[in-house]
Amino acid sequence: MRSHYCGGINESHIDQEVTLCGWVHRRRDHGGVIFLDLRDRDGISQVVIDPDTPESFALAEKVRSEFVVKVTGFVRRRPAGTENSNMPTGQVEMLGKEVTILNTAATPPFPLDEHVDVGEDVRLRYRFIDLRRPEMLNRLRFRSRVTSYIRNYLDSNGFMDVETPILTRATPEGARDYLVPSRTHEGSFFALPQSPQLFKQMLMVSGVDRYYQIAKCFRDEDLRADRQPEFTQVDIEASFVNEEDLMSLNEGMIRALFKDVMDVELPEFPRMSHAEAMERFGSDKPDLRIPLELQDVGDLVASVDFKVFAGPASDPKGRVAALRVPKGGELSRKKIDEYTRFVGIYGAKGLAYIKVNELAKGVEGLQSPIVKFLGEEVAMAVIERTGAEDGDIVFFGADKTTVVNEALGALRIRIGHDLDLLTSQWSPLWVVDFPMFEELPEGGFTAIHHPFTAPSCSPEELVSNPATALSRAYDMVLNGTELGGGSIRIHNEQMQQEVLRILGIGEEEARAKFGFLLDALKYGCPPHGGLALGLDRLIMLLTGASSIRDVIAFPKTQSATCLMTQAPGEVDEKQLRELNIRLRKKPAKAVDDQASATQEK
Ligand code: ASP
Repeated sequence: MRSHYCGGINESHIDQEVTLCGWVHRRRDHGGVIFLDLRDRDGISQVVIDPDTPESFALAEKVRSEFVVKVTGFVRRRPAGTENSNMPTGQVEMLGKEVTILNTAATPPFPLDEHVDVGEDVRLRYRFIDLRRPEMLNRLRFRSRVTSYIRNYLDSNGFMDVETPILTRATPEGARDYLVPSRTHEGSFFALPQSPQLFKQMLMVSGVDRYYQIAKCFRDEDLRADRQPEFTQVDIEASFVNEEDLMSLNEGMIRALFKDVMDVELPEFPRMSHAEAMERFGSDKPDLRIPLELQDVGDLVASVDFKVFAGPASDPKGRVAALRVPKGGELSRKKIDEYTRFVGIYGAKGLAYIKVNELAKGVEGLQSPIVKFLGEEVAMAVIERTGAEDGDIVFFGADKTTVVNEALGALRIRIGHDLDLLTSQWSPLWVVDFPMFEELPEGGFTAIHHPFTAPSCSPEELVSNPATALSRAYDMVLNGTELGGGSIRIHNEQMQQEVLRILGIGEEEARAKFGFLLDALKYGCPPHGGLALGLDRLIMLLTGASSIRDVIAFPKTQSATCLMTQAPGEVDEKQLRELNIRLRKKPAKAVDDQASATQEK
């Protein structure tokens, strides 16, 4: 139908006849001449229609915003003084000779200008219009470029793209499953995959050797900010490899990708143990752009009278840590109160601090509500440990280790941004040596990665010391965001049985749930491992989008609904009967009512 895209017209087309198709972005009537800004996915061209062509002129008078039209005409240079250097097509315009209205359009629910100030609910409901905005289309285009780069990279490294089932059994990754009732097997359910984990391991047993898939994963999680119930992973697995092979392959891919699509030369990724990351940054995905660190001071305060510090300092599950903020002495009382409320979100009961006014004056030079409780000697020792200087402030966290890490870890990032402390634009790293298990408050263990991750010790050592065993897992972290993670897998049946047993999965249950895996491990399973990268999050970081929803064509809201299709929806009685399902109670809420769910928590 067309000869060119609207965005593709330039001075090289002057005097040529072209045909453009697209949407009317804007129509202006200029004393007898009509200007149409015609838009398609590649850009906007200005079309001029004058009364010399009365039929086309009459049609052009009728068109409104977002009408779909086809125009044939000649490209010419814009009259001097009317060029628009902000537009790629701004030196030229088309003199339209023949206008066809291909379709009319109702007035759009919101204008398509670049910075639309319209609620996300409306944008999601009319996503097909929202995606017309150049900003959104560019993100989709960028995403497509990234996936095609990744495919090429993996293809040329000998990886095979293999699809795995969507209707399957539970694949444990720590979330709830989405279930699909089976009509042909009454009372039985498929689960949507939380990841292709076990299938990719089966492919290794089959000899595929190098697998990848751009895979949809489904996790019914309680919706924390900026998660999606279905999301996309670049899923990778390889045989006869160790963690070094996998980390260097994936690091190579990400560095090459950044160079190709962003012209950014990422540094080599440093490695940091999980224990070090937690100790220094209070996080297993530290943002290394921020030059602030946590420091343990528990040993210095263990025997002071001040229970708030002494308690956690002598509790094996407690921690007392300091966070020195250079030049933070200027923070106002109001700001400190704000930070106190902020750490409260993470369970901290307060935020103790010491301002260092003049170190030369000893304890007199410290300004703080807690110095009198610590005593002169301890206060000075703590300050010395942190290396604080005149004009600094030192914040403290004293609580259960998890609370201190989360609270001070988050405060570190918040202050880093507030005080503009970032030292670089991109800071990647690998976090390694994760613990195998986490102890549950109610007793027992849960897998930190997943139950198929290999420990770095023997089965005997694992059984005698599960709480301290480390795993062969690794996470790729960029700017404080976990981009992906993976591990070397268990390829030995006995080891797999032990891990399942520690997780409280007895032999019978293991057989029922993972019988095929246990069988596969018996029939010549090669050593193997892999990783999955979160594609949505990667695209979000690369495009600087503020929400994961902005890089997904048709995302769901925070309450896991699709406002455009109104999914999930009710089904009719007949369908339920076929599935042998009776609802315990009538659905309470229509999807409509849940629209507000796009609000970030
Ligand atoms: N299946 C894992 C996940 O989704 C990734 C991996 O271990 O390869 O987190």
